[in-house]
Amino acid sequence: MRLIVTGGAGFIGSAVVRMAVDKGHDVLNIDALTYAACLENLGPVQKHPRYAFLKADIRDHAAMASAFADFNPNAVLHLAAETHVDRSIDGPDLFVDTNVAGTCTLLGVARDWWESVGRPSFRFHHISTDEVFGSLGPEGLFSEETPYTPRSPYAASKASSDHLVRAWYETYDLPVVLSNCSNNYGPYQFPEKLIPLVIIKAISGEPIPVYGNGGNVRDWLNLEDHVDALFTVLEHGKTGRSYNIGGEAEMRNLDLVNHICSILDEKRPIERPYREQITFVADRPGHDKRYAMDITRIRTELGWRPRVSLAQGLEKTIAWYLDNEAWWRPLLEREGASQRLGMKAES
Ligand code: NAD
Repeated sequence: MRLIVTGGAGFIGSAVVRMAVDKGHDVLNIDALTYAACLENLGPVQKHPRYAFLKADIRDHAAMASAFADFNPNAVLHLAAETHVDRSIDGPDLFVDTNVAGTCTLLGVARDWWESVGRPSFRFHHISTDEVFGSLGPEGLFSEETPYTPRSPYAASKASSDHLVRAWYETYDLPVVLSNCSNNYGPYQFPEKLIPLVIIKAISGEPIPVYGNGGNVRDWLNLEDHVDALFTVLEHGKTGRSYNIGGEAEMRNLDLVNHICSILDEKRPIERPYREQITFVADRPGHDKRYAMDITRIRTELGWRPRVSLAQGLEKTIAWYLDNEAWWRPLLEREGASQRLGMKAES
C-alpha cells in the first residue's frame, strides 16, 4: 500500500512508519517537526527507498493537496497532533488549531483528492485517545458507545476531531475508520510523558513528581501492541467504525511509579531506594480519575489482543532509556522542555 502517515516523527507515528516500511508499504511521512518530533526516532528507515519525508503542517491546505496529488495514497494514518495535556491546559488555542482545524483541513483535502480520482478504495484512519470519554469511577469500562465527555482541552480537541472524522463519513461517504487508545509507553517517548519522566528524574537524582495522592488510574499499552492494533484496524476494520484499543493493564499512578523505582533499584542501584525521591505535587485541574477500556470489539471482530504484559514492557522500556541517554538528553536541553520537565508528571 501507499500510506501517508501524519505525525510520523513523533512517538507513535515513528513506530508506525518503521513498521509500515518493514511490512513492505511505501510511506510518505508528513510532519511539521514541532518540539515533540525527532527524526532520529526513524533510524535507518530514513534512508529506505520506500520512505519519503515532507516537512509540512497539516493546516497548510496547499501543501496537503499537493502531497495527496503527488503521492496518491491508498490510506492515511492520521497521528499528527498536539498531545500533552498539561500544555493544553496552559495554551489551549494551539490544540484547537492543530487537532481540530488541522484535522478538518486534512479531511477536506483527502475528500477533494479522493473524489477527483474517482473514489478509489481508500481509508482515512484517525488515531485518537480514550481521554475523549472523560473519567470513570472505580467500576466500569469505556466502550465505543460511551458518550463523549472530554474534560481537558487536549481531550476536547481530540473529541472534536473524532466528530469531524465521523461527519466526513456520514456526509461525504469518505471511507474512514477510527481508533481510541489508552496510554502508550515504549522507546522514543518524549521525556515530558509520565514513564520516561519518572525514569529520567529518578536517575538524575531529582524529585519524582506525582500528581495529588497518585491514586489516579490509567490503562497502559505497549507501543508495539498499539502499532500492531493500528495495522489490524487499518487493514480489517469496518469502514465508518471506531475501535477501542487498550492494554487491559490498569494501574494507579503511584503503583506504577513505585514499580519503575523498584526496577531501577535492580538495574542501576544507588545507596537509597529510588522511591524516596517521590514527591507529591498539587493535582492537575480537572484531572480524570480513571480510564479503562473495553476492547471486546477489536478482540472479537478483528482478533487483536495485547500481547506484551505491563511488567515485561516496563522492564524493556526502562532498559531502553538507560541505554539511550544520547537520545533523550539533547531533547531535555531543547527550548521549553527542561522548564516543563521541572513541573509535574502525567501522560
Ligand atoms: P507526539 O506528541 O509524540 O507526536 C506528535 C507528532 O505530530 C510530532 O512529530 C509533531 O511534530 C507532529 N505534529 C504536531 N502538530 C503538527 C502539525 N500541525 N502538522 C504536522 N505535524 C504535526 O504524539 P504521540 O504520543 O506519538 O501521539 C500520536 C497520536 O496518537 C496523537 O494523535 C495522539 O492524540 C494519539 N494518542 C496518543 C496516545 C499516547 O499515549 N501517546 C494514546 C492514544 C492516542
